[in-house]
This record gives sequence, C-alpha cells and structure tokens, in this order.
Amino acid sequence: MPFQIKRPTFWLILTILSSTSLSAQPISKYRTFFGTAINNLLVLRSFERGGQSFYLAANVLTLTTRLYPAKQLKVEAGSLSKSLIKLSNSAYSRAMTTAQQQSYNLQDAGISQGFSKEKGISLTIDLCPSHKPLDRVIFTSLINAFKKVKTPVPVALSITGRFMLTHGDDIEWLKGLQKAGDLDITWINHTYNHHFNPRIPLKENFLLEPGTDINFEILGTEIAMLQHGLTPSVFFRFPGLVSDHSLVDKITDYGLIPVGTDAWLAKGQNAATGSIVLIHGNGNEPVGVKDFIRLLSNQAPEIIKKQWLLYDLSETVEDEFSVNRQ
Ligand SMILES: [Zn+2]
Repeated sequence: MPFQIKRPTFWLILTILSSTSLSAQPISKYRTFFGTAINNLLVLRSFERGGQSFYLAANVLTLTTRLYPAKQLKVEAGSLSKSLIKLSNSAYSRAMTTAQQQSYNLQDAGISQGFSKEKGISLTIDLCPSHKPLDRVIFTSLINAFKKVKTPVPVALSITGRFMLTHGDDIEWLKGLQKAGDLDITWINHTYNHHFNPRIPLKENFLLEPGTDINFEILGTEIAMLQHGLTPSVFFRFPGLVSDHSLVDKITDYGLIPVGTDAWLAKGQNAATGSIVLIHGNGNEPVGVKDFIRLLSNQAPEIIKKQWLLYDLSETVEDEFSVNRQ
C-alpha cells in the first residue's frame, strides 16, 4: 500500500511547519500599545511578524501573558492609565500601585516583601550577562526534589539581552524542560545590557547610568525574548536591584511591575515563608547556588510531605493583591 498521510495529520504537519516558519521570521514595528479587551485583558505591545499583526496582552486577574493574533482581539485602545481605570481593583493594578509606592530606596524597589503563603517560597533566578554557562544543576536539583510533589516546577527567570546573545544552547535546554512539563518558567525582563561599573556610585550605576536608552533596554530585551520563543511576563527586575523613584515611574509606564527580593541568598539573607528568593544562575554566584541546593536538601523531608513548596510568581502576586484579600 502506498504511504498516505491521513488528513488530520497532514493539517497538523502544515500547522507545525507554518508556526515554525513564523517564529523564524523577524519581528517588526514592536512598540508599546495599550488597550483593553474581553476576559480582563490589558494589551501591552503590538508588533508584526511574517506579515501578521500580534498583541502581547496580560490577564489582569492572573497576571499571566500571552500573544494573540491581532485579528482575534477586539481592542479598545487607550493610554495605560485609562485602561487601568477600566480594569481597576484587579490584582495587576493593585500590585502596580504597591510597586510604585515602594520606589524611594536606591535598592530593592517594587514588590519584594515576603507573602503570607502557607509554607514555601517563590524562586527567582537572574541571568545577568555572563561568559560562563548556565548553572544547570539548579534546575536538575529542583526537578529532582519536586518530581513526586509538584510538576512542572514554577521558577521565574530574569533574563538579559546579552545573556541571550551567548547562551542559545542553554535557552533551548530550558525550553526543552518547559516543553517536557518539568519546569513552568515565568520570563522576567532584566534589561538588555545590564550595565555595571564597580568604580562608580550606585546612584549613577546600572540602569541609573546617565545616557541609558531605557526604551531599548526594555523593548530590545522583549524583542530578543520573542525571537528566542520566550513570552515576556508583566514583571521586571532592576539590574543590581538599583533604581530611584523616577526610574520606577519610567518602568511602570511600560506596564511592567518591578519585582525585588527579600532573600538574596548569596548576601546572607535567609528565605522565610513566602519569600521572593533570589539566586544567580549565570555561573557568577556559586555561593548562592550552593546555599540554594542546601536549602532544598534541608527542606527535603518537608517537600515530600508537601509542607514546603515552590510558588509561581504570578500566582503569588495574584493571591496577595486579589480583590478577595483585604
Ligand atoms: Zn542582574
């Protein structure tokens, strides 16, 4: 009998081929574009790819993001503040207000407090520019520790444009773990260049360096994320956790919610219940990685009993800022 492709299989192959070729297409006309759409959606960006128009939109109740073909969404365009008035009292708008209020210190602006979770933490891993490979042991240890308890394991990765330039294999490896159902990754914008000069004071360092092109640092990173097949989340992490009040305002004007930390393990800050834990996964912070692996093994008996869990960052923020919670 001659080889025949059944019709549904044929369409499946065609769909996969067309989506693969679409993701290989360059992104153009990427810009901020705000508006609202049904199902509590806040549109944040618009762009074109392969001759089609797309939106990046956030659900303001769950704080999750997705890409939508523009023809699928009827959007009522308006400024961010006007859109937020329509979507007021959502977890997103409440989290945004809190982040803006916590913006006066030179370090750790945004959402950084421990949350009132039962037991466990939200894990954030920063991928600042580095010539060293990704610390894969963090992820394999996490998957092993939680394999009988919670899959996929939720982690939030703060990624830089320059990390993406030199770590294509590592990104593919992470995407493979996500596809296999081992990891559930929230991708946080950590700027493109992540400028740092150890000889200058913090108030002119990192993203506060005079002359920094904020628009490129934010949108350039998002374009690079999309070109690697990663969907930007609503979250943002300041390089070095350094910012001032007016910089926080600039970031939130893009619809991004800054996330700090209350447990940077390598700085000796301990993880408490509900902490937003920070470690670096770019090969430059072996102490933090060692501390985290120790934390995991100390908690192993509790993990098995489901008494110590990892929480998805979006869910954590949603729980904390949802209207049902006063
Ligand atoms: Zn960093």
